[in-house]
Amino acid sequence: MSTSSSPITFARPATPHPAAKTWSVADIEALLSLPFMELVFRAAEVHRQFFDPTKVQLSTLISIKTGGCPEDCGYCPQSVHHDTPVEEQPMMTVDEVIAAARTAKANGAGRFCMGAARRGPKDADLEQTLRMVSEVKALGMETCATFGLLKDGRAEQLKEAGLDFYNHNLDTAPDKYADIIQTREYEDRLDTLGKVRSAGLSVCCGGDCRPE
Ligand code: SF4
Repeated sequence: MSTSSSPITFARPATPHPAAKTWSVADIEALLSLPFMELVFRAAEVHRQFFDPTKVQLSTLISIKTGGCPEDCGYCPQSVHHDTPVEEQPMMTVDEVIAAARTAKANGAGRFCMGAARRGPKDADLEQTLRMVSEVKALGMETCATFGLLKDGRAEQLKEAGLDFYNHNLDTAPDKYADIIQTREYEDRLDTLGKVRSAGLSVCCGGDCRPE
């Protein structure tokens, strides 16, 4: 980690979440040096400000398109670049996804997260993908998706279809990125996150998975 104390600021929508703040590296280092149980206590204090501490929000995740991914993430068995037992499967149909969402809802899930192993949504599958989102939303569930990199306009289409959250993790630090992934760059991830926020979607990104 850099020892610079320059502020780290993440792009946010015009109206920031009440808990949002700009953290300096020194702030973060001070936080991480706290005893673990003190961290747990502070986290619980913040959690109670915004959520009912007696409840847990349940999500169900489903892979709508498994395997055969052209990206080369070093940690992932779904990449075509790695020799693993995971075989490519066709994308699930809308009916299959909705049936799974109904089961998830019946089991208590309030949010349904759809993941696809690919570099980004394909034009050929777009209508099917948007229908999945809109029909899950129509069940009265929150919707989350992780479909990879988004080109211009895609985030708005997903938002219009009823998407609430977009998951897009940063994988690792910028200076380590090429050690893990060569098929895209750290900046590509930031670019998609910017599009997601600009479209008014909530970002699910590592430790940051909450409504904006
Ligand atoms: S983009 Fe996702 S599915 Fe594809 S290799 Fe990377 S982690 Fe795996």
